[in-house]
Amino acid sequence: MKLELERVRQCTDYNLAVCVLASGSRGNAIFISDGVTGILLDAGLSAAEIKRRLKSRGLNPRDLDAILLSHEHSDHVQSVGVLSRQLKLPIYLSRKITKKARLGKAVHEIRTFECDVPFQINNLSVHPFSVSHDAADPVGFTIGQNGRRIGIATDLGIATPQLKAQLQDCHMLILEANHDPEMLMNGPYPWPLKKRIQSRRGHLSNLQSKRLLKELQHPHLEHVVLAHLSETNNNPQKVLDEICGAFKRSKPRLTVASQHRSSEIIYLK
Ligand SMILES: [Zn+2]
Ligand SMILES: [Zn+2]
Repeated sequence: MKLELERVRQCTDYNLAVCVLASGSRGNAIFISDGVTGILLDAGLSAAEIKRRLKSRGLNPRDLDAILLSHEHSDHVQSVGVLSRQLKLPIYLSRKITKKARLGKAVHEIRTFECDVPFQINNLSVHPFSVSHDAADPVGFTIGQNGRRIGIATDLGIATPQLKAQLQDCHMLILEANHDPEMLMNGPYPWPLKKRIQSRRGHLSNLQSKRLLKELQHPHLEHVVLAHLSETNNNPQKVLDEICGAFKRSKPRLTVASQHRSSEIIYLK
């Protein structure tokens, strides 16, 4: 695959390119490529909207090679079946969620993985690992190429030692900062939902995310994307204000992923 955007063609010396197409409880999708292989991590918007957002950044949906699934919640799987059939894409997902993922009548092809068993999609090295979340077998991923590594964990209630070990030494992190605890508690959600979000298998608060990033920071961490923000119980400025304090020694670039539009293309050189 060759990324079709003129801007991307001009940028030839990168190892990985990332575009967060959408992030939040109303739909998640992330595009990752090394310039040859293109993968879509989660497909939680309609197929038409995912294609529109790819095109809005000059990326061609036909250049996708695979879809990777983190877990079976609807904000991550909405158009997996449709996209798989339309674009003839294999879907990589945990063996334990194949039945629960409701992939529709037919998908082009299913390829299963197990946590902590790394695999390759062409030159991309993919390592799925367990995260603590209320789904059948939820995973985060590291995706690497040529010594560069991205860590992604967007639905998790706590940062386990195993998760910290996996996310160490990544050059880029896409990490959940879901809610401000005070806004959540004083907000309109029903009590059981508040409890679920705050539980060990729910979502990370800004403070939890900050603590985790404090532990994970290192001089070669270049970019942190804060993701899966609650639209009701958080806002981008609050997250940035709180989390920029996590970085004392080195300052990675810090951005917030949006529910409503795709991010710029981020390059790891
Ligand atoms: Zn989610
Ligand atoms: Zn989820």
